[in-house]
Amino acid sequence: MLYIVTALYIEAKPLISLFNLKKDNSYTKFQVFSNEDVKLIISGTGKVKSATALTYLISKEDIKKNDYIVNIGFVASNKNSQLGDIVYVSKIQNAYSDFDFYPEMIYKHNFLEGSLTTFDSIIEKKIENIEYIDMEAYGFFQTASIFFKKDKIIVLKIVSDILKDKVEDRVLVDFKNENLFSESYNNIYKFLVNFKTVNDDSNFTITEQELIKKVLENLRLSDTMTYELFNILRYLKIKYGNIDILKKYENIEVTSKVQAKKLFEEIKNISLQKNSLEKTISPEINKKKIALNNRFSHIYVEKKILDNKNTLEILSKFRDAKIIEIDNYKEVFSSNNQDFHLQKLGQNLILASNKPNMIYEGAVVCEDFENDNFYYTSSIINCVYDCEYCYLQGVYSSGNIVIFVDIEKVFEEVEELYNKLKSLYLCVSYDTDLLAIENICSFSEKWYHFIKDKKDLKIELRTKSANIDKFLNLDVLDNFIIAFTLSPEEIALKNEKYTASFKNRVKAIKELQNKGWKVRICIDPLIYTDDFEKNYSDMIEYLFREIDKNKVIDVSIGVFRTSKEYLKKMRNQNKKSEILYYPFECIDGVYTYSDKLKSYMIDFIKEKFLKYIDNERIY
Ligand code: SF4
Repeated sequence: MLYIVTALYIEAKPLISLFNLKKDNSYTKFQVFSNEDVKLIISGTGKVKSATALTYLISKEDIKKNDYIVNIGFVASNKNSQLGDIVYVSKIQNAYSDFDFYPEMIYKHNFLEGSLTTFDSIIEKKIENIEYIDMEAYGFFQTASIFFKKDKIIVLKIVSDILKDKVEDRVLVDFKNENLFSESYNNIYKFLVNFKTVNDDSNFTITEQELIKKVLENLRLSDTMTYELFNILRYLKIKYGNIDILKKYENIEVTSKVQAKKLFEEIKNISLQKNSLEKTISPEINKKKIALNNRFSHIYVEKKILDNKNTLEILSKFRDAKIIEIDNYKEVFSSNNQDFHLQKLGQNLILASNKPNMIYEGAVVCEDFENDNFYYTSSIINCVYDCEYCYLQGVYSSGNIVIFVDIEKVFEEVEELYNKLKSLYLCVSYDTDLLAIENICSFSEKWYHFIKDKKDLKIELRTKSANIDKFLNLDVLDNFIIAFTLSPEEIALKNEKYTASFKNRVKAIKELQNKGWKVRICIDPLIYTDDFEKNYSDMIEYLFREIDKNKVIDVSIGVFRTSKEYLKKMRNQNKKSEILYYPFECIDGVYTYSDKLKSYMIDFIKEKFLKYIDNERIY
């Protein structure tokens, strides 16, 4: 459903006609016009009325994942606009408070973009530092954010009034014109009709939902088991395209908890077996997708670092990007109701000033490779890659990338710690893949130069990229460890989107080794699939056919593991992931493979590596 809020009938009239809407008399407090796909409400003037009407409109509705809400209306422009220009609003300010909203700038459009300020009364002459002026958008956006995902809220305005320094010079549209802004409205209409519902084929069909309901009634499972069963069924649905297995239990009425648990375990075991069920091929659905902006089409920059040299260097690489000034990165990055995965598809960049204390002690669950004083630091949040199992989707609500630009301040902090402790082991590619973003910020190279004369300051740069050219031209440093995370070709291709292919990562290792670099190999996370043995054996054999085993510093192996809280968020973000919906065991709040499977996987891989690497160098 597409919901539209306008302040006045004159703003709504062309939309009523274009969408062929009819007066909806089931609404009595405000005028509403609707058809099967669209509901439009006329709120009256002002932000409170806009918020009230919006709440009234959707109060009876069950808002779906793909529903949109749009505020359309007239604005006054302080810029050199033309009457009829359409503005896709990128920032909404309240004239009377400091809190701003930043709509998602992810969809491709042909309109202008700009910042809008909502006032409580009509403004008749130009105001410094303000682009567009209206009377509703702030109230609309604030309320819409409660009910809709951020990417589903859009503010489109048509310039009807051009403000000048003197009131008498103001240019105002002729509101008596019958075809007022017909071209602008046609363009808005064309843009909006693209927002079609996209089918989510990992969802259960109505028949499947009824089957689940019946089985749950029969089995009478505990709440925890019900939750687990749902996840198992989703796993089966993703893997096999159906949950026909459940039909077997449709008419079984259990008489005891023991029997219920037994049947639950039976279903779980079926899900754990390789290729245990027949696959259903789902029909190709002709999905109409909304076009998204290219990566980094918009860059949010904190005002206080606008003149920072690293900021300027980064911005110089994106001459066509739209720059939106912000007060604090959290206004954009940490706002509620964001869609991590949609943002990954049209990722934007946020440049921020450093937080205090950017060095953290290494977590117990992370391998320290027998180094003392294990710390990590992260000058970048999020990654240009998109690995299906990435824990970042459990940690952050946004898929956009934040760069804390002032890396020299981090160096000062590290230097202080190093002087105090005399030796340090620091992971610098944490919460991101630093090498993957090297062409944008050159932080890996800056680290290289920073540690060059500090022999007891060892850093690890972990990557899935093959972006190693810089390092081929730099002298080898023993305290700069380049660590490559490797996965079998199929996993790299299917589940590690945008990363270098397995073979290109191996090629990068080989080239570095030829230049004298020693590398670390990380097989982490190990993922269990039906072809686990073959995929990982092929991977290791290929690797050592290509690279020099003597120039491998060490190897680390770890299975997929994540906290209960993160997995819940990750599964919610990615309902089609066979990896994430695997029926893991939960041990002390951490979800991972069962002890038995975990040992099997690690032993299997280790044995393969032992053919090339001695035991002491395998972690
Ligand atoms: S490379 Fe690492 S940080 Fe980047 S998406 Fe993959 S798992 Fe996440």
